[in-house]
Amino acid sequence: HQDEEKLTEYLDELEFLAYTAGATVEKRFTQKLSQPDSRTFVGSGKAEEIKNFVKENEIGTVIFDDELSPSQLKNLEKEMEVKILDRTNLILDIFAQRAQTSYARTQVELAQYQYLLPRLTRMWTHLERQKGGIGMRGPGETEIETDRRIIRDRITLLKEKLKTIDRQMATQRNNRGKVVRVALVGYTNVGKSTLMNALSKSEVFAENKLFATLDTTVRKVVIGNLPFLLTDTVGFIRKLPTQLVESFKSTLDEVREADLLIHVVDISHESFEDHIDSVNQILMEINAHQKPMIMVFNKIDAFAYEKKDEDDLTPATKKNISLEEWKKTWMAKSKYPTVFISALSKENFPEMKKMIYDEVHKIHISRFPYND
Ligand code: GDP
Repeated sequence: HQDEEKLTEYLDELEFLAYTAGATVEKRFTQKLSQPDSRTFVGSGKAEEIKNFVKENEIGTVIFDDELSPSQLKNLEKEMEVKILDRTNLILDIFAQRAQTSYARTQVELAQYQYLLPRLTRMWTHLERQKGGIGMRGPGETEIETDRRIIRDRITLLKEKLKTIDRQMATQRNNRGKVVRVALVGYTNVGKSTLMNALSKSEVFAENKLFATLDTTVRKVVIGNLPFLLTDTVGFIRKLPTQLVESFKSTLDEVREADLLIHVVDISHESFEDHIDSVNQILMEINAHQKPMIMVFNKIDAFAYEKKDEDDLTPATKKNISLEEWKKTWMAKSKYPTVFISALSKENFPEMKKMIYDEVHKIHISRFPYND
C-alpha cells in the first residue's frame, strides 16, 4: 500500500470484517516491500516476528489483507503453524454465515468451492484440521476431503442449480410488469437497509456490521400516490472476491434491471469518495452505469464539526471540509440529483422523497402516458 492513511483505513476495514466474522483482533503487522514475497507474502523477518507473536499469545488465526496465492498460503501455514486466512476467504466466510435463502447459500457454496479448488492440497498436508471457526464454514469436512474431480462435479451441479433459480427469478421479475423498479446501491454499511426500512416501513435487518444484507429484499413503496418497487442489494466492497461477483449475478441483476438507482453514500466515512468510486466501478462492470441515479448522502447527523472550543470549527473529516464546503466541490457539478439526509433522524426526508417521486414519475409517465 502506498500511503499511510490508506493503509490504516484498509486495515480498519479488514479489522471490521474480522469482527463481523466473529473474531477479535489482537495486533496488526505491516511491512513496506516493493512487491510481496513470492514465497510467504511478507519477508522472512516479518514472518518470524508474526510467528513469535502468534506463539506467545496463543493466536488462533492470522489474516492477510490481500489474496494469497495457494503456495503462499501453504508456506505460511507450514511456517507459522496457525490458520491463515486471506481477505477473500474472510469475506466468503461472512457471506456463508449470513446466507439465509437457499439461493444465497448456493451462491456462497459455489464461490467457496471455486476458491477452494486451486488450494485443495494445502488443507490436509500441513495443518491439523480445526473444526468450525472462521474460514471453515460452508462446505462440510467430508466434501473438502474428497478429490478435485468431485468438487468440480459439485461446481457444475451448483451452477446448474443457480441457472434454474436465475430463470425463476427472471420470470418473477418479468411478472412484476411495468411497475417502476428502484434499486438501492452503495458501499457496505452506508445505511441502505436503514433507508429501506424508513421508506417502506418494513423490518429489514440493519446492524453495524459489514454485509448485514446478503439476500435482496423487494418492497412496495408508495410516495405521493405513486407506487414503485424498491430493492435493497448486497453492499459493495473493495476487492470483492471475483468468485463472488460472478456467483452473485442474480443479486446484481436486480441492479441491472432497475429503472432508477439510489446511490447511498456514508458521508461521515472519511473515504466516502473512494467508496463512490468502488460502487461506480462495479456499476460499470455490470453495465448499469448509465441508468438514472439519485445520489443520497446519508449520515449527515454523524458528519459533525468537532468543536474543541466555541471558536474552533475544525470539521471531523480528514480533508477538513465542512458539509457546506463539500457541496461546492465536484458535488455541485454532479449530473445526478443530490440530497443530504440522515436515515436515522429522517432529516431532509421530505426533500429526498420529492426527488425520488420526481424521478419515478418521469419513468412512470413514459410507461403509462395515458393514465397520468
Ligand atoms: P447497509 O449495510 O448499507 O444496509 O447499512 P445499514 O442500514 O445496515 O446501516 C449500517 C449502520 O449505519 C447501522 O449501524 C445503522 O444504524 C447506521 N446508520 C444508518 N443510517 C444512519 C444515519 O443516518 N446516521 C447514523 N449516525 N448512522 C446510520
